[in-house]
Amino acid sequence: MNGYHPSRVEIDINRLQLNISIVRNFIGKSLYCLPVKANAYGHGLEKIAKASLEAGVDFLAVACLQEGVLLRKAGIESPIIVFGAFHENQIEDLIRYDLQFSISSQLKARWVKEVCEKIGKTCQVHIEVDTGIQRTGVRPATALFLLEYIYSSPVFEPVGIYSHFATGDGPGHPFVYHQIELFNELKRHPDLVDKKLIWHLANSGGTAYYPESHFDMVRPSLLTFGYLMDELPSALSGIAPCFSLKSHVSYFKVVEKGKGISYDHTYTTEKESRIVTVPVGYGDGYPRALSNKAEVLIRGKRYKIAGTICMDQFMVDIGNDEVFVGDEVVLIGTQGEEQITAKHLATLCDTNPREILCLLNNRLPRKFSP
Ligand SMILES: *Cc1c(COP(=O)(O)O)cnc(C)c1O
Repeated sequence: MNGYHPSRVEIDINRLQLNISIVRNFIGKSLYCLPVKANAYGHGLEKIAKASLEAGVDFLAVACLQEGVLLRKAGIESPIIVFGAFHENQIEDLIRYDLQFSISSQLKARWVKEVCEKIGKTCQVHIEVDTGIQRTGVRPATALFLLEYIYSSPVFEPVGIYSHFATGDGPGHPFVYHQIELFNELKRHPDLVDKKLIWHLANSGGTAYYPESHFDMVRPSLLTFGYLMDELPSALSGIAPCFSLKSHVSYFKVVEKGKGISYDHTYTTEKESRIVTVPVGYGDGYPRALSNKAEVLIRGKRYKIAGTICMDQFMVDIGNDEVFVGDEVVLIGTQGEEQITAKHLATLCDTNPREILCLLNNRLPRKFSP
């Protein structure tokens, strides 16, 4: 860190590791893969990777080559899966950095085979099957041909086969059962029953609400970080967020009644009011869409943001209350009896907590405790 910053993201590592042990108990003998893409959902890639491996996670996963390279450069030696569809120019590095990656078409499998033969190396791969998200992944009907191709060449070391839910964030969704059934049909195919592959399907929702989707490995990120969309099964009820966003009041002024606050004057004081400034803005990834909507905690009390959130700061109307420059401001997390969750901010912005968390960028220093 280059000098003091009044704002920071705080990550409670004990809390994270407790969440991991709760999930671990819940999933029984399934392996535990933690996707740490997008800076570990904003929590901080390397530290989260290390702390989660220490807590017993078996696999890490990322979205792209660069994230995998960052983990390797941080000295992480665990298996790492790169989920995103790779570009032809990335294959050599994927192999050199010992990253497992998804194969989702014959075309890509051929590219990989050529590179492996050229550089004289083998590669570890997961076959991605699309059971209904219509994103990347080979269709179940053609998966067998792809598998046949992969098993026919010694350059491939097939590690796993996986799919991804389209609607798996909440309980009781019929399409989830449809995807589980398609995955099971493939798993029962006579050509595949004797193959040693890690079958994996469940994201956070799958892990929490659909035990029949656990298979050999689960991939719950949001759940591990302490969030879910709906009520959790009681065995997971101890799960809680490990992420806080805090700042400190940077300025104080008294503003007369009827004055417009911030850009475009979208907020007007109803009476003479004390207006404090908080040095966090959309340049840090705190969404501008929260203007006049989100609350923050100061001295244990909730206050609404007054006016448009600027790139680097926003204002809060504290009425006649007493607040001082330097007082702590909690934007996400708890203070006294009050709490503000990323989930609540997500609701205000009509998005999910993943987006709120991973938007909060590295201009905000991360502080990990302990
Ligand atoms: C990001 C990701 C996950 C994690 O999803 P959450 O629901 O946020 O836990 C799981 N699987 C794949 C393939 C992913 O890309």
